[in-house]
Amino acid sequence: MTATPDSTGESDKSDLSDATARAQAHAELVEKIEEQRAAYYKDDSPLVADAEYDDLVHRLEDLEEKFPELVTDSSPTQTVGGNVDTSTFDPVEHIGRMYSLDNVFDFEELRGWYDRVRAATSATSKFLCELKIDGLAVNLLYRNGELVRAATRGDGRIGEDITANVRTISDIPDKLDTDYPPAEVEIRGEVFFPLEKFTELNAALVEEGKSPFANPRNSAAGSLRQKDPAVTAVRPLHMLVHGIAVWTPADDSHPEPGHQSEVYEQFRSWGLPISEYFKVLETIDEIEDFITHYGEHRHDVTHEIDGIVIKIDDIAVQETLGYTSRAPRWATAFKYPPEEVTTKLIDIQVQVGRTGRVTPFAVMEPVTVAGSTVERATLHNGYEVTRKGVLIGDTVTLRKAGDVIPEVLGPVVAARDGSEYEFVMPTHCPSCGTELGEQKAGDKDKRCPNSRSCPAQLANRIFYLASRAAFDIEALGEEAALALTAPAEPEAPPLTSEAFLFDLTAEDLADVKIYRNKKVKGVETGERELVPYFYTRATAKKPSAPSANTTKLFEELDKAKDQDLWRVLVALSIRHVGPTAARTLAAHFRTLEAIRAAELEELSAVDGIGSTIAASLRDWFAVDWHVEIVDAWAAAGVRMEDEEQETGAQTLEGMTIVATGSLSTFTRDGIKEAILGAGGKASSSVSKKTDYLVAGDNAGSKLDKAESLGVRVLDEDTFRALLDTGSLD
Ligand code: NAD
Repeated sequence: MTATPDSTGESDKSDLSDATARAQAHAELVEKIEEQRAAYYKDDSPLVADAEYDDLVHRLEDLEEKFPELVTDSSPTQTVGGNVDTSTFDPVEHIGRMYSLDNVFDFEELRGWYDRVRAATSATSKFLCELKIDGLAVNLLYRNGELVRAATRGDGRIGEDITANVRTISDIPDKLDTDYPPAEVEIRGEVFFPLEKFTELNAALVEEGKSPFANPRNSAAGSLRQKDPAVTAVRPLHMLVHGIAVWTPADDSHPEPGHQSEVYEQFRSWGLPISEYFKVLETIDEIEDFITHYGEHRHDVTHEIDGIVIKIDDIAVQETLGYTSRAPRWATAFKYPPEEVTTKLIDIQVQVGRTGRVTPFAVMEPVTVAGSTVERATLHNGYEVTRKGVLIGDTVTLRKAGDVIPEVLGPVVAARDGSEYEFVMPTHCPSCGTELGEQKAGDKDKRCPNSRSCPAQLANRIFYLASRAAFDIEALGEEAALALTAPAEPEAPPLTSEAFLFDLTAEDLADVKIYRNKKVKGVETGERELVPYFYTRATAKKPSAPSANTTKLFEELDKAKDQDLWRVLVALSIRHVGPTAARTLAAHFRTLEAIRAAELEELSAVDGIGSTIAASLRDWFAVDWHVEIVDAWAAAGVRMEDEEQETGAQTLEGMTIVATGSLSTFTRDGIKEAILGAGGKASSSVSKKTDYLVAGDNAGSKLDKAESLGVRVLDEDTFRALLDTGSLD
């Protein structure tokens, strides 16, 4: 049940030259769409991801465009999807109809819409662009300034009376803050559920034995469409308003505004919640820039957005253009690529990390989301699996927002068939069999306490110490780390501790073998075979010898002995000591011996270190086998101190500087080094204490924050001048 383009199968395979087959393909599509609409609007429990639903609707539109005789008044292309559950709510008739929106999915389609609208209106029309809130449409009716009714969209004419529920949402005033309210006004908006509260809600539902929601949008709908308003009241719902229908002015001196943007200003003055992100624009280029900007800053907004809505600003022009049976002609929605899809949760497996943390992760049918294929996602710990309410075999909603790590949001409960089963967190380490425990009582994470010898922990530590942020040994990847610590052969691995890494010789690796998928002429046969990992295979002509990668490994190991001290510190896998803390420690103490000898107070007094890192360092050096690593590396020739360097001019002394966006002459690490090297403090977040923000292209929320706090923003050239001279004059 993934969002693949051909998941609807049937209609594609039909012979569309035959009228009966066409009608049947049409009927099948309509039936599927109606079934999905019912699950989505009636049960607040969708069967598929939005992208898959949108794809079905698109197919239906294409079919009807080619064969207009198939269009009926009741076709989903002509109707507003919705539901009126009269067993729970009173039906109410909207005074003005509630519509859906037409969609465009790329700039070409957008330009088509823009050109049509321009041709039908005056050339001076302006466009109000705003964020499309991914929530539930709600209609508010105010009479003489008092909220008298609130309703869901329903089928666009009749909605469900949810007045009591809506009154519990604190964003929505019972009374408009004006002495001259319209006699009657219908105000449309979107109710949404904050993403960061979503897992919490599902956890509470699972605990009560109720079904969790698949995604935040459905949780907003489900929370609002409650029989008991007291349930709605405890859900953290919010609303933003974005439209009007009828507007009967109180008197002639307080007429309805002439522009959508003025309506919003009026809403604001009445105390209604409006979005702060709308803009009135004129040209298609400006509209595209707005769309591109929010496509990149989608996550800087506190609510979920699924696109941009573009509306003609002038209400008189809106009225001239009018409506189709389901959507206004004067507006369209540009839809962003989906960040939520559904896929099958095939299994939940566990992995043991570098610090012994045992983490369950979801193994899913591969699915494309936000531009990449995802088939695994961490589930953090056993407790989190329960909180999310997912079962092995479930169809799950998966969210991947841009570069953000993919997250399983929740199960599609409606798609269960009874074969799903619960995940059970193991009690013993899957790598070494040691009983799992907690670091301290009450921890949610389970850990393998066998840090020294657990093969999984050791392999991960070795892989980590070779990473770019540590010794930067390219030839020592994940597979090589496993081959060193847990090969298929020989039984005794070449490494039983990272202490001996620099003592390895090529001969130690001669017999190391691992299992690989067998290939014949580049094609996998489905069989596994045992192959030498570090050496070439012996042939009749050539005996087995270290592979090119193995030669490189030894060269890189040799080079690693001469790395900066901070890299050695990172390579030691001391909790909380990542590159930033390591650089700070190295710059302050200059030798590993000095860090090892430093008392807790001395360590925590270092600017940027603090008590957690200090305690972690002290604890780490108190363990014998940790000290053995340091001693063994030193004995093997790893340099444990920084060479005396001429310190450059301390032009940035006392200044706290943050860098953001992409810079053309500095890498991310490069600018940090430049700041630190000149005596400044390189911080990663903007606060009142920040002296300067260096902003490159596509600077996001940090730039907004700096501007709101009045922090001075520098471009790259100005920063260079500051770095050179220490002042900006
Ligand atoms: P829509 O969501 O694409 O657009 C119309 C709605 O957008 C309006 O009713 C309005 O409430 C809302 N909206 C949000 N921000 C707005 C703004 N700033 N200005 C104006 N309106 C704004 O269309 P739809 O008809 O409501 O429903 C279709 C949507 O629901 C699609 O995203 C579809 O994928 C989803 N859906 C999914 C399933 C499923 O099974 N997964 C089933 C049915 C519908």
